Formats: sequence, structure tokens, C-alpha cells
Amino acid sequence: MFASLSDRLTSTFKNLRTKGRLSEADIDATVREIRRALLDADVAVSVVRAFTASVRERALSAEVSGALNPAQQVVKIVNEELVGILGGATRQLRLAKNPPTVIMLAGLQGAGKTTLAGKLALHLRSQGHTPLLVAADLQRPNAVTQLGVVAERAGVPVFAPHPGVASEYEAPTGDPVWVAREGVATARSRHHDVVIVDTAGRLGVDAELMQQAADIRDAIEPDETIFVIDAMIGQDAVATAQAFLDGVGFSGVVLSKLDGDARGGAALSVASVTGRPILFASTGEKLTDFEVFHPDRMASRILDMGDVLTLIEQAERAFDADQAEAMASKLASGEGFTLEDFLVQMQQLKQMGSMKKMLGMLPGMGQMREALENFDEREVDRIEAIVRSMTPAERRTPKIINGSRRARIAKGSGTTTTDVNGLLERFTAAQKMMAQMSKGGGMPGMPGMPG
Ligand code: GDP
Repeated sequence: MFASLSDRLTSTFKNLRTKGRLSEADIDATVREIRRALLDADVAVSVVRAFTASVRERALSAEVSGALNPAQQVVKIVNEELVGILGGATRQLRLAKNPPTVIMLAGLQGAGKTTLAGKLALHLRSQGHTPLLVAADLQRPNAVTQLGVVAERAGVPVFAPHPGVASEYEAPTGDPVWVAREGVATARSRHHDVVIVDTAGRLGVDAELMQQAADIRDAIEPDETIFVIDAMIGQDAVATAQAFLDGVGFSGVVLSKLDGDARGGAALSVASVTGRPILFASTGEKLTDFEVFHPDRMASRILDMGDVLTLIEQAERAFDADQAEAMASKLASGEGFTLEDFLVQMQQLKQMGSMKKMLGMLPGMGQMREALENFDEREVDRIEAIVRSMTPAERRTPKIINGSRRARIAKGSGTTTTDVNGLLERFTAAQKMMAQMSKGGGMPGMPGMPG
């Protein structure tokens, strides 16, 4: 997601890099490029207009006179404006003072509501909450069963109106408003501190659907109404969001299917157009493909400044905290990054199961995207064999690995000298990247890191 927007913006900035200072004509040309990149990525016209006007004005103003070079100044301004349209500060889920916190999910059919119910339940459960899922989507034949399945995978109970669903609770009626109300009452009486109500969607916006959702809303008075939007639906996203805002109202947005390769700009417009914050991003079909949405991190991902914090958080989730912390402080210090560390990182990334996604979050990787598409996870096994065939001295100081050592290592690891050369090149590139990151250059958010 956002790959081509990201490429376009970074190449625009690259053109500025050689300039000593920016003339008004330079700024106008840059702003034009940015406008085109945003429009081509499907960002809503009204958002693009406000965005580019603000970038232009700030770029021309006196604020551009500090220590940064012109390209850095423009990147900084664009970054801040992007964070702005994505909603500014990270907004946490609001929990009720008097439990249960009632969360209602709304959105079109296929937006990813049911999947989100499971993801949210798992996320909340891992934070010590005791969510109950309520199956008030009685429109789609399979919805209730599907909610039963995600509830089981998330390890939480479900309040469902049909027999045959894995549920401790059964409801006797097919009226979604009744089911929603009873579900919330059940959560209260059985001391669940959060209750997540899944509602029906339609293929398009329709009055009956809006009425049903509004009736459910009135019956359960949610603390959070979350509008789920498929990031792949393009320009329709804005109109759909507006229709739900008018018809049902919502307090937050979840962008789903951010793993897709659609242009994604419409998703970028939703927060700005509706004035509602994006709470989470859904990035795959697995229940763990789910992130708290941080506008600043998303902006730096789009501007290809990497997203080391998200990388570290995911590492923490996948591994024990010590390991993750060691990795974080390596990233932060940029010192003593050795072949062993490189290997450990590769193994961790492999275990995380989603190599491409992970590497895409590392700074500077935007240009390597094509190479990543061809990344073979078996490669990690080869890297391991090669590193294991090196002596400790070689691992510490790869510079000493001359031609005859390369041949020995290749033989020992059952690879070729070309493989060994390739690994050493990649390691050197990674080491350089770590060193750059440690200088703090384009790494927003680093101060919060452990280590
Ligand atoms: P609902 O009709 O709104 O309840 O949508 P579902 O939760 O049933 O999702 C519709 C389809 O999209 C299902 O096949 C899901 O597996 C899939 N899906 C949901 N979220 C994501 C996501 O973040 N990424 C991808 N790739 N697929 C998703």
C-alpha cells in the first residue's frame, strides 16, 4: 500500500537535493509534483487542495531558513502536513469508566468488520480485557458462523442468535436490534469489560442498512462506533465514509486491507474529510495482522523514512522482550552491528513470517522494493550456513575475509563464493544503514526507544 505514492514523493524530494536554496519557481514545481502524486494516488481533491496550499505557504515563508537544507525542509513540512491529514496525534481506544465498554462496528459488507471483531478481541484480550463478541449481523448468511470462528481463534466467547455456533450464550431471535441489546446486557451481567457488536453491511450504501445501524446504535449507546473501511475501494471511500457519518455517525475509523496494493490515497482522505481519527490498521487476513494506527509513523512510512518503532513493536510481540530490546538498542546506537546481529535479525524477520512487510518498514528500503518482491525466505537458511562457516574473527571483522577465506566459507557452507560475496555486500549495506539511523537523520520518533 502507498508504494507508488511513496516512490513519487521521494523522487520529487530527490530533485531538490542538489539545490542550494529554493526559488519560488522551485517550490511551485515541487508543489505541482506533490499535487499530481496525491491525485494519482486517489487522495480526495479537497484534501489535496488544502494540503498543497499549506505546503506551498509554509515552504515560501520565513520558517524555511534554518539549519536544514532545502530538500530536508520540504520533507519536514510535507511530513508534518501528512501527519495532520492522517489525524495528528495517535488516538487510543476510549474505554468506559463504567464497564462494559460498548464498541459497535459499522461499514459496508466485505469491509472487514467480522475479521476486525476478532482482531480487536485478541488485541484487547492480550491487554487483560475480557471481551464478548455479539453477532448482530444477521444479513449475510454466513456472518454468524464466521464470527463464531474468529471468536474461537481469538479465544473469546460470542453471543450469537443461532444454535450450532460455538457459544456459551444463545439468543432466541433473529432481530438484530434485540440481539445487540441482549448481547450488551449479557456482557454486563457476566462481567465482560468490553463488548464488541458486529453489525450487518450491504454492498452499497442503502437507507434500510443505515436505519438498522442507527437503531442498533440507539439501543446500545456505544462508547465507540467504529467505521471500518476497505482501503482498496478507491475514491468511493470518501463518499461511503460521509454517508455513514451522516446516517449512523462514528467516533473512529479502522482502515482495513492496508496490505493490498491499491493506491490507498482515498484511505488517506477519510480522517481529514470526516474529522474522525483512524484508530487501527488492518493489514491481512490473520488475526495478528493488526496495528494501532500512528499518524506520524504512517507518514514516515509513506515518505520512506521507515518505521522502526513499528518494527520493534512487532518484534516485541513475536519474541521475548530482552531480544527485542537488544535489537532496539542496536538500532539506536548503530554501533557494533556485526554479522551475528545481522543473522539474528534475519532469523527474527523470518520467524515473524512476513519478511517483505517487515523489510518495507526499514528506512531506505523503498528503492529496494523490487528486490524484496523476489525475496526468498530460504535465503535466510543460506545466510545462516554462511555465517556459521566463518571463524569468530571473521564474524567480528568481515574486512579480513579475503579470496581464499571466501572459498573456504563457501565450501564449508555448501554455497558458492558468489553467495558469500552477496551476503557480505548486503551486510555492509545494512551496517551502513544502521550507522545512518544512529545519526538520527530522518528518524522521527527515535527518542521514545528503549536502550
Ligand atoms: P465484513 O463483511 O465487513 O464482516 O467483512 P469480513 O470480515 O468478512 O471480510 C471480508 C473479506 O476480507 C474476508 O475474506 C476477509 O478475510 C478479508 N479481510 C478482512 N480484513 C482484511 C485485511 O486487512 N487484509 C486482507 N487482505 N483481507 C482482509
